[in-house]
Amino acid sequence: MKIDLHNHSYYSDGVLSPTEVVNLAKQEGCDIFSLTDHDTTDGLLEAQKQADEVGLKLVHGVEISAMWSNMTIHILGLNVDINNPIFQAGLKQHQDFRQLRAEKMARGLGGAGVFSALEKVKVVAKKGMITRTHFAQMLIQEGVCKDMRSVFKRFLTGKKPGGVGGQWAQFDEVIGWIHAAGGKAVLAHPLRYRMTNTKIKRLLSHLSGAGLDGVEVVTGSSSKDEITLVSQWATQFDLLVSSGSDYHGWPNQRTRIGRLHDMPNVNQTVWKDW
Ligand SMILES: [Zn+2]
Ligand SMILES: [Zn+2]
Repeated sequence: MKIDLHNHSYYSDGVLSPTEVVNLAKQEGCDIFSLTDHDTTDGLLEAQKQADEVGLKLVHGVEISAMWSNMTIHILGLNVDINNPIFQAGLKQHQDFRQLRAEKMARGLGGAGVFSALEKVKVVAKKGMITRTHFAQMLIQEGVCKDMRSVFKRFLTGKKPGGVGGQWAQFDEVIGWIHAAGGKAVLAHPLRYRMTNTKIKRLLSHLSGAGLDGVEVVTGSSSKDEITLVSQWATQFDLLVSSGSDYHGWPNQRTRIGRLHDMPNVNQTVWKDW
């Protein structure tokens, strides 16, 4: 079985349309596929239409930012009922914050000599949502920075001109939204946060206590050793395991839809009942 439960379209910070992403998943031979845009399910209608058209099993998903111990983490909501009002009210709160953050970031950049940043970034973001990645792309296009790394270093983090801290809902609240919609809450890419392994284990322990269902064991960039490590944690904290590429379609991203290492055969998978 080929399973990829973590992908983005241009409804958040991906490059391709939901139709194009679904077509790629079909071409790669995915058996189960999920579109998980940041804090929005708006791309799923189009994705579902195309999935029906080409005969692909689409799991309705989302990737929600959340606060844990003053840090931003990402929690996937998989197999959610996108019509649930509690769930959508939560996402709306995050969409509103993203709008506000974009305005603040643009003001900060204006102070550093990058003018009309909001107007310019709106051209880069194909749909309504503006992410930090869009700001980064805009700054590179404008010739202000040469690559993503320097953009984030010079402009978009901490006390830099475009740095605005995340004000997302707390992790337990986010898990609550996902459960209200009947979905599974899964911690995304546990090794991508700037945390020591000890701290990641504390994170998993807290989240598991708050009802987290699973953890992403296999990601598009995982090495075999990393997969072994995270699958051991999944067992330790009694979590289901998940697998997803985090495909965005960026030109410099080597990740491909459905090109993932196998899941070690030690835990229960998040998709076992689907
Ligand atoms: Zn993420
Ligand atoms: Zn993602």
